[in-house]
Amino acid sequence: MHEQAFRQDDVAESELVTRRGTFRAVAFRADGFEHMALVFGAAPPREDVLVRVHSECMTGDIFGAMRCECGEQLDSALDAIVREGGGILVYLRGHEGRGIGLVAKVRTHVLQDEQGLDTLDSATTLGLPVDIRDYSPAVRILKHLRVRSVRLMSNNPDKISALESSGIRVTERVPLLMAPNDHNIGYLTAKRDRLGHDLPQIEGCVTR
Ligand SMILES: [Zn+2]
Repeated sequence: MHEQAFRQDDVAESELVTRRGTFRAVAFRADGFEHMALVFGAAPPREDVLVRVHSECMTGDIFGAMRCECGEQLDSALDAIVREGGGILVYLRGHEGRGIGLVAKVRTHVLQDEQGLDTLDSATTLGLPVDIRDYSPAVRILKHLRVRSVRLMSNNPDKISALESSGIRVTERVPLLMAPNDHNIGYLTAKRDRLGHDLPQIEGCVTR
């Protein structure tokens, strides 16, 4: 598969000083969404790069919601990249609720809270798909940054196949395991049992 290169007009790049350190922030326009890559390290390597491809989750990432583990994974991935001294976080917009959007995601929360449905059934009950995230912008971004192979921080086998089928080699999967809490154990269990995520840390935890 050959992804389109970005037009110069659709990319902008600057230094971004953060609490963790100084990143290169590269913003991209792709398919109606705007994404960002945070690149850390003096001379970013092209092989075996420590990478997180993070799906936008406003409630988790910005507001620290505890019904999913997105915010904690974002923090933990950025910490790991800085600790390692190099790496890239690709932040993908348009991925709310595995692609259904923010309003629909909040509707699924209502069904989860009122009817006890899990993260999949609450979507399908609303006639919505379970996961329609498109990872091709991440592939285009990584290729733009001249990355050839990655050590991917993820528990999601679908993300690995999406990258590999598009020509980004995944030389290692680095688990990103967050301790469960009372509010997200049901969500994590559904992700493990029904979406095939590798979440050994929740073994033995009891769903509410
Ligand atoms: Zn989330």
